[in-house]
Amino acid sequence: VTDLLPVLGIAIQVVFVLLALATMADWLRHQDRRRGYLVLALGSLAGVVVVSPALSVRGALGQLITDVTLVLFLLSGYGLLMFRDSFVPLRRNTRRAVTAAIVAVGLFAVAVQLPADPQAAHGSLQAVALVAVIATWALCVLEPIVRMWIASLGLPAVEAARIRALSLGYGGLVAVILVSSFAGSVSRANEYVLITDVVVLLIVPLLYVSFSPPTWLRRLWRQPEEDALRQALHDLLTHSPDRATQAQRAVVWAARLVGGASALIIDADGSVLAAHGLSVDEARAVAADPSYVRHASDRGRQPPGSTVVIPLNLEQGNSAMVIFAGPFTPLFGDDEVLRLHQYASSITVGLDRVALSARIAALEKAKTEFLQIASHELRGPMTVIKGYLTMLEGGSLGSLPASAMSVLPLLIAKSDEADAMIEQMIEAARLEDGRLALKKQQGDVVELTELAIQGVRPILNAHKLTVEKPPGPIPADVDPDRFQIVVRNLLTNAVKYSPTGALITVVVDQRGDRAIVAVTDEGIGIAEADQARLFTRFGRIQTTQHISGTGLGLWLSREIARMHDGDLTVESKPGRGSTFTFQVPLSG
Ligand code: ADP
Repeated sequence: VTDLLPVLGIAIQVVFVLLALATMADWLRHQDRRRGYLVLALGSLAGVVVVSPALSVRGALGQLITDVTLVLFLLSGYGLLMFRDSFVPLRRNTRRAVTAAIVAVGLFAVAVQLPADPQAAHGSLQAVALVAVIATWALCVLEPIVRMWIASLGLPAVEAARIRALSLGYGGLVAVILVSSFAGSVSRANEYVLITDVVVLLIVPLLYVSFSPPTWLRRLWRQPEEDALRQALHDLLTHSPDRATQAQRAVVWAARLVGGASALIIDADGSVLAAHGLSVDEARAVAADPSYVRHASDRGRQPPGSTVVIPLNLEQGNSAMVIFAGPFTPLFGDDEVLRLHQYASSITVGLDRVALSARIAALEKAKTEFLQIASHELRGPMTVIKGYLTMLEGGSLGSLPASAMSVLPLLIAKSDEADAMIEQMIEAARLEDGRLALKKQQGDVVELTELAIQGVRPILNAHKLTVEKPPGPIPADVDPDRFQIVVRNLLTNAVKYSPTGALITVVVDQRGDRAIVAVTDEGIGIAEADQARLFTRFGRIQTTQHISGTGLGLWLSREIARMHDGDLTVESKPGRGSTFTFQVPLSG
């Protein structure tokens, strides 16, 4: 044991000096007041440790060394108190009183020529001075220890761990110093010295990690947060209420992740999308400062001080997430920045997705509104045109030259086509608004199909049409107008998507408890992969885009079929033709 003690003594001196140098380097890099106080606290403590072996020197030099040690000792307490003051401020008067008390105690101790060895014989004034010095130091240190520990309770993992390390480290030092000063003969035993030396050696890493924790440790501290973050990320990407709420959650997590005190997301337009730990005005001020977004676009380069700026490349433009270090997070390492970059891409995806669904919803609404307005506005003029064309054809407006008469059927057919499209649009708009109510009544599917065929007769002329139907009626409860819309739509499509002169077959039949109308053409057909698209709103197949149409017909028809508890299905082969089968339940 005795051989070990000098080695331990030197080891303690070395690690304390290294610790002081590390805080110094950290302070030089950041140059802020808070780190300055930490340098003062740990630097002067290292001074005490280094100078203390010389305390055995006798005479005037010995006294000078004692006084210097005393001052350094008090300074180390003062430094820690001021460090605490920099994030949990003391009241001004308290700070002044404490400073004055420390100076007074220091002067008093120097004046009474306090002996170097606390266990040596003391005069009564010297005894008072010794107690005063140690009590002052202990108070300066104990108060921050308790204060910081309490403050750590509400903090995220990384900050809490740092601050507790500092508290624990200082707590250990207080214990060692108090025991050495007052425990008399116990503290002189070799075993005791050994134990305290080891304790002091263990304390040093604690103090070190509190201001400069290595990456692996920060990652370890962050681990519990990471697990919670994963869950939060899942929520962020799956349920997305709206952009602001999402951004708010994201920003809170970003700050927690790296132990930042406050954070905000600046939107692409420069406004504050979400902020955490900042007042509205503070957040606005940051957002208004162009340097942050500039830093974001300048990837990798971070602004000076304890701030990280992470770019968010949103669809609406570039924006940035800014995270400010708190009192307990004096630095952000590369690891934090990397982690934030990873997190930022998830945030970007989440925010873009919300924006996208909002935009799609708005577009859908605009489409519906347009459909409604356009269809109603078109109907009036179309009725007038069709009316006059029919009057011209019937001769009630006088006779026309033969050449003019010959184009009338085509004009009427075209206006019928336009009319049918307008009707489709009106019905589609009704369907979207939930205003399409069926007026069902007992009817005959055979008769209704024939009526529908009559309705599109003019456009059927260029094709061959066969109708296969049973001799008797097929009764079904249907809305007669809507039923005909479906059949007319299938016929119109058969004409549109098959060549002139090709055969179109309509089969009306009864299968089981269903009435069916199947329309078969020998047209271009539809590839299997495209078949699901036909029945969607505005769904058209790329290859048929040059044929006029709205893409609403089949969607509307299937909806009408399903409102009747029936269905509309397709069977088709590209190049061979298609069969659309419309079925509704029989009545009864
Ligand atoms: P529109 O005919 O007005 O485009 P529809 O909803 O009636 O809208 O039809 C949707 C799409 O389905 C059409 O654009 C066309 O590509 C395809 N289609 C419909 N009927 C047929 C058919 N009989 N043969 C081939 N393709 C068809």
